[in-house]
Amino acid sequence: MSKAISQVPFAQNEPVKTYAPGSEEVKSLIATYKKMYAEELEIPMVIGGKNVTTKEKVTIHPPHDHKHTVGFYHQGTMKHVDEAIKVALAAKKQWNDLGWEQRAAIFLKAADLIAGPYRDRINAATMIGQSKNVHQAEIDAACELIDFLRFNVEFMTELYAEQPISDAGIWNRAEYRPLEGFCFAVTPFNFTAISANLPSCMALMGNVVVWKPSDKQAYSAHVIMEVFKEAGVPDGVINMIFTDGKETAERVLAHPDFAGLHFTGSTKVFQGMWKMIGDNIHNYKSYPRIVGETGGKDFVMAHPSADVEALATALVRGAYEYQGQKCSAASRAYIPKSIWKDVKKVMEKQMKTIKVGTTEDPSNFVNAVIDRNSFDKCKGYIDRAEKAKDAEVVIGGKCDDKKGYFVHPTVIETTNPHYESIEQEIFGPILTVYVYEDKKWAETLQLVDSTSPYALTGSIFSQDRYAINEAYKALENASGNFYINDKPTGAVVGQQPFGGSRASGTNDKAGSKMNLLRWVSARSIKETFVPAKDYKYPYLG
Ligand code: NAD
Repeated sequence: MSKAISQVPFAQNEPVKTYAPGSEEVKSLIATYKKMYAEELEIPMVIGGKNVTTKEKVTIHPPHDHKHTVGFYHQGTMKHVDEAIKVALAAKKQWNDLGWEQRAAIFLKAADLIAGPYRDRINAATMIGQSKNVHQAEIDAACELIDFLRFNVEFMTELYAEQPISDAGIWNRAEYRPLEGFCFAVTPFNFTAISANLPSCMALMGNVVVWKPSDKQAYSAHVIMEVFKEAGVPDGVINMIFTDGKETAERVLAHPDFAGLHFTGSTKVFQGMWKMIGDNIHNYKSYPRIVGETGGKDFVMAHPSADVEALATALVRGAYEYQGQKCSAASRAYIPKSIWKDVKKVMEKQMKTIKVGTTEDPSNFVNAVIDRNSFDKCKGYIDRAEKAKDAEVVIGGKCDDKKGYFVHPTVIETTNPHYESIEQEIFGPILTVYVYEDKKWAETLQLVDSTSPYALTGSIFSQDRYAINEAYKALENASGNFYINDKPTGAVVGQQPFGGSRASGTNDKAGSKMNLLRWVSARSIKETFVPAKDYKYPYLG
């Protein structure tokens, strides 16, 4: 195949554009947004490279303007799931036979398409369909996705370069084969980058994929498929279907050629799928790989020595950016009594200036939550806190669903460390604060560690090195991404590989070599140059 040991371009994080008011970049992005907002986009499934339409059209409404229609996607049935599996398996041999440089080139091209001609389009799609503001769209749909694509290519070559040692007279090699069969990617609504990364990193490693995006992310999923097509992903290698999640999982996970699940979404859904895999284990040709990044109840733990303004800022950014709909969002905070009044004052001052509204206006820091269910869920927590004896809404609390699903940034203060909103994943702009007695620092660390079944992200704020060290040790297993004097969100590919353990996932760190390793099945090859010609070993005399 290849007649060179090629080196791939050195991966570097994509610079984040600022979209400063009046800049050419913000004008261009908003113009693209407006144009797309006025259209009615038709979104087909893509199976074997063909656009597949059905009679079942589901309309798409921006969460910040739920009466407006921006298009519709074609909903498929189990017939389409079967077809997607069939064409994926049919594409397998040719894809597997292609040299790795060709696969690398396709995904490097995809990264450059997003960095250049598709940047506004993929950002605008994310702003419209998922209600992300310009900055949130840029760090997700553009930068993180570009980083995933470029870094994965580099990690692939590092993995391929890992080779065994060889004794005299033999040559040992390791070959990183794709999994035998097809892979299944199931992705969440909240990150365009995750949604593209899950199927593409498996394809990069030589696998063929059936991808079921979240119906709430259909708009940007469509742009991802446009990019993949233009980048040269061959027909059948990544097949995108819009079908019912549970029914699809039942169908796919019962297939004998099912080889791997790459999932990101809620814990309950992942656990249900794992169980289905267990129930089908005797049907499969190989033991499937299971990777799932799931829910979180991410903490911020402050020490009395914490810098008040830095802590308050981290809470505001960490809890409310993208309406708290990041799996890493700060949703429970433990603040010592001695500084809480001051922290609250700074938060109030900052939060008074937060504008809530449509994504078309870049000055809005907070936009809409994803749908009616999420709005009702958030409102339910706020309403109950308003009536509770052991909790109080101390900042925010306003909900307004007339035009869009707007939940204003809210702080609930509770005296009960097991109050519902400090334990359960809400996935909205609601932060619950528990104020602890300063002398109970060590007990509170235990509380942080044991309160939630999740272990995704967490932060510690302190200016005291001994306290930092104590928290570092006490919270060793409480998060997969641990921050010191920073907010628990905003992991960057290549810098803070992302993933959690306990009920938060298998911790295979998306966008890392560890993750790519799950999508290959190594073959050890031993070649002997001058083989023995007599069975007798020297010890036999
Ligand atoms: P979700 O679990 O509702 O949906 C995820 C995907 O699963 C979607 O494609 C959905 O259609 C599908 N699905 C839904 N029900 C299913 C079922 N019964 N069987 C099979 N598939 C099914 O999650 P969401 O609301 O899209 O995303 C939010 C969740 O994702 C939160 O819990 C968040 O913490 C988590 N998340 C985690 C990470 C991480 O890296 N740990 C990243 C992003 C999101």
